[in-house]
Amino acid sequence: MEKDLFERPDFLYNLFDAIPSLIFIVDEDVRVHHLNIAASDLVGLSENQEYRNVRGGELLKCINSFDVPEGCGRSPKCKGCAIRNSVTRAFAGEKVYRETTCFRFMKDGNQIEVYLMLTVTPIVFEHNKYVLLVLEDITEQKRMEETLRQANQMLARQAVTDQLTGIYNRAKFYDVIDLEISRAVRLESPLSLVMFDIDSFKQINDKYGHHFGDDVIRTIASTVNGVLRKHDYLIRWGGEEFMLLLPHTNLQNTKILAQRLRSMIENCDMGSDVKVTCSFGVTSLHPDDDFNKLTTRADGLLYKAKNSGRNCVVTSE
Ligand code: GH3
Ligand code: MG
Ligand code: MG
Repeated sequence: MEKDLFERPDFLYNLFDAIPSLIFIVDEDVRVHHLNIAASDLVGLSENQEYRNVRGGELLKCINSFDVPEGCGRSPKCKGCAIRNSVTRAFAGEKVYRETTCFRFMKDGNQIEVYLMLTVTPIVFEHNKYVLLVLEDITEQKRMEETLRQANQMLARQAVTDQLTGIYNRAKFYDVIDLEISRAVRLESPLSLVMFDIDSFKQINDKYGHHFGDDVIRTIASTVNGVLRKHDYLIRWGGEEFMLLLPHTNLQNTKILAQRLRSMIENCDMGSDVKVTCSFGVTSLHPDDDFNKLTTRADGLLYKAKNSGRNCVVTSE
């Protein structure tokens, strides 16, 4: 009885019709031997019409609502589309499983980009070769993947960004410092670190208010950011304290840069005739340095700058 059932084509065709994927059985002339109801929707026949009339038609002409970028056979530029290529490979005995994008022509004349998953399997039946072509529209899944990818990217950016200034936060420093130290050692290239801190900032807050203080922090961050190179890192280390990590920059050039920044900040228009200054500690990577030694030295130099009257740059040997 089981044998009888499976030998009746209608039974298998009914099974195919219950599957939501688009199924085509194609013969060696790339003509549609059979297609299921979902596939018939694609080729533009309604349920009431005799969708199996398409049988015997050339596959790509039947799938005439798709134009695969590699070419659909309808355009003079056609070089053979992803579907055609996959079917050819399957006739050579290969099972093909691939994603492709294509344009779907809508009834109103517009084109929409869709993603298809193609599964193309060779079948031999009574010495005749066929190919089972299964198409799945995965556009919605792809769209969701893209939305998720963008959300992850945004979260990753937020995780290393300081909210007030938009520059990097301390987490970014921890992310990159070991990598930059090992890169500097490997390439025998200098790496410098500047720690700077706004002078007497408490008084500014007390006198002009916290909002004004926030504006000062933002202005200093954008002033410094404006003169940096692509590979430099400006980090908000804490409240009114910043770090500058400068790959490929030696101590001498870092000292010049720090002096320039000190002068720019001093001359910066903060509004309300307020003058703001910063103190700087400048150092470069020593051969036996690790992250701790480097930052502790920069911190010590900044402390010296504060004790030397502020608004100055103190550099290590
Ligand atoms: P010094 O020159 O020795 O650095 O003195 P200072 O007053 O700058 O240092 P102190 O550590 O005494 O004070 C830092 C002040 O910075 C206190 C704190 O309220 C303020 N501060 C920290 N973060 C922020 C912030 O995000 N916004 C504002 N407006 N103020 C902040
Ligand atoms: Mg300060
Ligand atoms: Mg401070």
